[in-house]
Amino acid sequence: FKVPTPTNEPIYSYAPGTKERALLKNALVEARSKEIDIPMYIGGKEVTTKNKKTISPPHNHKHKLGEFSYGDTTHVKQAIDAALAAKNDWENLAWEHRAAIFLKAADLIATKYRYELNAATMLCQSKNAFQAEIDSACEMIDFLRFNVSYMAEIYQQQPPISPSGVWNRLEQRPLEGFIFALTPFNFTAIAGNLPTSCAMMGNVVVWKPADTQVYSANVLMKIFKEAGVPDGVINLIYADGPEVGEVVFNHPDFAGIHFTGSTAVFQHIWKTIGNNIHKYKSYPRIVGETGGKDFILVHPSADWQAAVTGIVRGAFEYQGQKCSAASRTYIPKSLWSAMKEKMLADVASFKMGGTEDFSNFVNAVIDEKSFNKLAKYLDQAKKDKDSEIICGGNYDKTEGYFIEPTIILTSNPKYTTMCEELFGPVLTIYVYEDDAFEATLKLVDETSPYALTGAVFAQDRYAIEQASVALRNAAGNFYINDKCTGAVVGQQPFGGARGSGTNDKAGAMVNLLRWVSPRTIKETF
Ligand code: NAD
Repeated sequence: FKVPTPTNEPIYSYAPGTKERALLKNALVEARSKEIDIPMYIGGKEVTTKNKKTISPPHNHKHKLGEFSYGDTTHVKQAIDAALAAKNDWENLAWEHRAAIFLKAADLIATKYRYELNAATMLCQSKNAFQAEIDSACEMIDFLRFNVSYMAEIYQQQPPISPSGVWNRLEQRPLEGFIFALTPFNFTAIAGNLPTSCAMMGNVVVWKPADTQVYSANVLMKIFKEAGVPDGVINLIYADGPEVGEVVFNHPDFAGIHFTGSTAVFQHIWKTIGNNIHKYKSYPRIVGETGGKDFILVHPSADWQAAVTGIVRGAFEYQGQKCSAASRTYIPKSLWSAMKEKMLADVASFKMGGTEDFSNFVNAVIDEKSFNKLAKYLDQAKKDKDSEIICGGNYDKTEGYFIEPTIILTSNPKYTTMCEELFGPVLTIYVYEDDAFEATLKLVDETSPYALTGAVFAQDRYAIEQASVALRNAAGNFYINDKCTGAVVGQQPFGGARGSGTNDKAGAMVNLLRWVSPRTIKETF
């Protein structure tokens, strides 16, 4: 069988006057016009509870978009039972049929649900139209189509060699048990990719998204159902993370976790799994993409104007809430004055506000907890002697959780905001002496425990080579003369090592291979 050769979904710009802009605006009005009541999905059934949580846009938190049913341990158990009940039929369905279901899901997003999905992401995750287009609709479509093509390759691999009288085979079996997909708030497409990539390979899944992403998760689930994902194959529950974990990680049929989220949560989960290892039938697969403290390093030979564009886009798109966001930058003294002037002008041109006004580039941060955390860092930076806020620094939560795009200049390359993941629109800059490039490479490598993304801007070929070698382990996605965000499925497989994850590249064949357990068969004639 040949599956369609994937290409990246074309991205709509939503420029003024376009038909797409009008359709997206309509979807936003439609979503605003009624209060939605979101159920969980267990064994194909919509499950509601009396315990409800309110959904509000982070940029307009007094407005109620609707509510969702919050589950408890009973629902987690039901979801696991439903998954295990669906397992036999699903794993025995020929892979071509599973492929067809997920290709159909991609088509449904492209042709029918694009605006609804983007509107949900814009409203519940406070993402502007363009960011929603690339990070939810297009990336989700790409994940599905490219993963189907990798899946086909896996199932159609060349068999092992067989000498005369022997037939050797390699069978790709789904994992024995259920998979737990635990997903973050910041990318609708990542949330959808974690359960679907496992399900595609014949596994059954219990999926728990972040509470702040439930609205768009619900749209995805409707799409997966309409595409033909059978009842029980993907079960979507909303509940307290640790409570869900308590049931999942104590279950003998727990076969693996596909996680994206913070490093602290992943490390806690890893330890819990380790402590429970004797309870499981098999060693569970542990795949996690976690935090980042992503860097941009500018060399004196750089095209400094391109570097400024890369830095401000990398730092402030989606309010710095991409795991790949640029949050620490190293600039040579000779370029600093010109770069500073352009950077401040660029940032001053950003409009901040709600997502429904398409001229706003910067929107709100995800919730009050994140707002308070960021405000604390800013207050501290205002007091510290080795830091100076050169733009932004203000915050206001009257209407929404707004943090001004902020640049901190520090004389201390190990200043707190150079080391810790803040997850907000805060960029810290350290200016180095031009002749200290080599020492700066060492600083970049050693300053943070993470290794997700990083970029170097340089025209000098030797400097590019030097940075590529010295920073080999500092980033799983390394960019030369480009911003450190915006990996495209099929083009730049995404993921980091060190404290940033297990580096099982999302949207790549290597990731799908984590969700199968090969069996070698030798038959002698
Ligand atoms: P988070 O770690 O707070 O939450 C992730 C998921 O885990 C959520 O569903 C949450 O409810 C659940 N959870 C939280 N504590 C739990 C516990 N003790 N037991 C079980 N489940 C628990 O992350 P977030 O705030 O939603 O997302 C932001 C984080 O994700 C950032 O650190 C970011 O860098 C990271 N991220 C990484 C990548 C990547 O590819 N490396 C991509 C996106 C986001």
